[in-house]
Amino acid sequence: MKCGAKYGIDEISLEELPPKCRCEGIIKPDIIFFGEAIPKDALIKAFDMANRCDLMLVIGTSCVVYPAAELPSIAKRKGATIIEINREDTMISHIADYKLRGKAGEILSKLLEEIKNLP
Ligand SMILES: [Zn+2]
Repeated sequence: MKCGAKYGIDEISLEELPPKCRCEGIIKPDIIFFGEAIPKDALIKAFDMANRCDLMLVIGTSCVVYPAAELPSIAKRKGATIIEINREDTMISHIADYKLRGKAGEILSKLLEEIKNLP
């Protein structure tokens, strides 16, 4: 969080928490926590991809935190197919072409198996 260094999962020791960087700063996962701002470059790329994608998987999000919550609607307006994977209905369920209900890890594993078995 201090110097921006990146580590592979195998390079991090979890014996001491939170894990520390070589610079003595704290190491956090490379994800956006609730309340954190999305890096500007990532946001621009996400909006660009939402405008151009044929298919969007919306997985495990309640779709209530903007601006990311807007991405499925953008993709839908541009003609993309929306697949929502979630335990329950969300703010974007009404625009989803397919709603897969259950645990994301289990559903994604099944989808992967189906894809592997395609001729
Ligand atoms: Zn560091």
